Amino acid sequence: MRRITRSQFFRESATLGAALGLGYAPALAKEAEQAANAQSQTGATSAPDVVLVNGRVITIDPSQPKAEAFAIKNGTFVAVGSSDAVRNLAGRGTQLIDAAGMTVLPGFIDAHSHPTMAGFAATTQVNLDVRSIAEVQRRLRAKAAVTPPGDWVIGFMYDDTKVAENRMLTRRDLDEAVPDHPVFVTYRGGHIYWANSKAFEKAGITARTPQPAGGQFYVENGELTGLISENAREAFNGLWPSTTTREQRREGVKIVSSMMAASGLTSVTDAEASLDDFIAYQDAHQAGEMTFRIYTLMQPPVYEKLKAGGIRTGFGDEWLKVGGVKYVADGGAATRTMYMSTPYVGRPNDYGILTMQPEAIKEAVAEAHSHGWQVGIHANGDRTIEYVLDAYDAALKRWPRPDARLRIEHCSLVTPRLLERIRDGGYIPTPFYTYIYFHGEKWVAYGEEKMRMMFAHRSFLDYGIPVAAASDYTPGPFEPLMAIQSMVTRKDIHGRVWGSNQRITVDEALRVCTINAARASFEESLKGSITAGKLADFVVLENDPHDVDPDRIVDIRVARTVLAGRTVHQG
Ligand SMILES: [Zn+2]
Repeated sequence: MRRITRSQFFRESATLGAALGLGYAPALAKEAEQAANAQSQTGATSAPDVVLVNGRVITIDPSQPKAEAFAIKNGTFVAVGSSDAVRNLAGRGTQLIDAAGMTVLPGFIDAHSHPTMAGFAATTQVNLDVRSIAEVQRRLRAKAAVTPPGDWVIGFMYDDTKVAENRMLTRRDLDEAVPDHPVFVTYRGGHIYWANSKAFEKAGITARTPQPAGGQFYVENGELTGLISENAREAFNGLWPSTTTREQRREGVKIVSSMMAASGLTSVTDAEASLDDFIAYQDAHQAGEMTFRIYTLMQPPVYEKLKAGGIRTGFGDEWLKVGGVKYVADGGAATRTMYMSTPYVGRPNDYGILTMQPEAIKEAVAEAHSHGWQVGIHANGDRTIEYVLDAYDAALKRWPRPDARLRIEHCSLVTPRLLERIRDGGYIPTPFYTYIYFHGEKWVAYGEEKMRMMFAHRSFLDYGIPVAAASDYTPGPFEPLMAIQSMVTRKDIHGRVWGSNQRITVDEALRVCTINAARASFEESLKGSITAGKLADFVVLENDPHDVDPDRIVDIRVARTVLAGRTVHQG
């Protein structure tokens, strides 16, 4: 094997690159040249660690939008160009990836997600985000087989609208699968649950149990159906251990980061990180088990501690970075509780729920912004967004900071006036990117008129606002290809179109999911495009999203995901 130094690689490849017209990072090439001169006595040479050739490389870099190949050294792209030119850079120790004409893109970035919600649960519970009740039963049965008698089997992420049967679970479904262990299943969006007979027995609930205030055990023909809602869940509190160990949480990051890598994601923002989350990311990363990069919006108590230690936004490295502080100012879009200036369809007195008063928003923003922190506030409804903008404008006026990139998490329902204010303040919205596709049945509560201004990717782009990609997983699916289809077609799973005026093109959707998302964490010079000098995170897709039927983008296979030059998923 040819052992060579990084600097000599740069010297050789820079010379060759100049001859072949390859794209280089000028600063890197210069630095490399200087280092190479200093070390020219050693006799060693340097080749890239990895080269990819024969790709349809969509770089998302306007200075060189298309390429066939690139070279990677020390986790960074070092050259981008034609297959012939890049192949010439390879040495004996270089790993060669032949993309075989497949489409290559920068790794996808999700600027608002909650990876540990599912990650931690997955270490002890059963993931029921599946497409049939038979599969639900199979997974529960498999878990019961390795669970000691009497212990609970807990399932999460079930959604009645996503299974072929298109119905709620029943006590009978669960009894059939698992007769001898208590079983409890949580709905994907919370609020409703299902239990089997053993579970009701353990909780002491029968069909004759009085119904609790603010909740229900559903009964039909004198029997429990298995469905439980809201406060009725309290009957099950404390019946199984609700906490995870530090080991399990580390394992949870490993599980969820591999799930996300399989979808093509290479960077994710945890939009509400707790102390446990932050420790788990560090543990998983140090163990070499974390297959994504993480930027964190901190929960306020963690933010307080970090701030007391003198830490501010940007602390950390390209694997795990302290981002901003996160606040929540209103209800949800999918839960139909966001706070708006106009009421919900069929609920003339219901404008939603404001969870933080305007004065409290102002105080929180002033405090964090004046300490050098980026702020991200969950604000879905137009009225809530207005309050957040008032607070942001006031803070920037009092403590001017160029490029503060204050964020509006979700920013679901906008108006032309709000769009102007978001543009003028340089604020970053992170609207849900898979919601149109995945949660269609909920949009009736808003109606077509509001939907024309909800998840308004087209409007943001038209106003020149760098709208960022955001799943809000687990409430929304994280898969970027589903997101691209959702933003391009504005069509839900059942084929119904919501707010077609907000459609964006495939090219625009790709930018939202890469360079725009990188910008939301101040990292657009580090990632978000295939450019020499940037981190070597990329994804290989079996088909080009430009070429397939827009209604089938979700089905494109992710052939490979590469993080810092290392393959972390092969499909
Ligand atoms: Zn969220």
